[in-house]
Amino acid sequence: MKEHNASKRNGKKKITPKKNAAKQKKKRKKEYRSYLKSFEWNQIKEELFSVRGKVCEECTSTKRIEVHHLTYENIFNEEPEDLMILCRECHKKQHQDRNAK
Ligand SMILES: [Zn+2]
Ligand SMILES: [Zn+2]
Repeated sequence: MKEHNASKRNGKKKITPKKNAAKQKKKRKKEYRSYLKSFEWNQIKEELFSVRGKVCEECTSTKRIEVHHLTYENIFNEEPEDLMILCRECHKKQHQDRNAK
């Protein structure tokens, strides 16, 4: 299953008309939100925690741990390096920094 997904991702087929970009982004956001509640995402998180530990990678806190996406490119099919384990506070900061740009 993993190999199948990998080959799918490597097929560079990105034809997105500009006028639909905003609409697609909105749709993607909605999908992403429901994905965060899904069993699949929970599995990915648990696996990540079992490998790297349930510890914030910024400040080593173990409270209110969340998983942050470094990239949304591979969403629904994340690689461990696409993800970052963060506490709620550091997670918030990551998103603030991103918005500040
Ligand atoms: Zn932290
Ligand atoms: Zn995040």
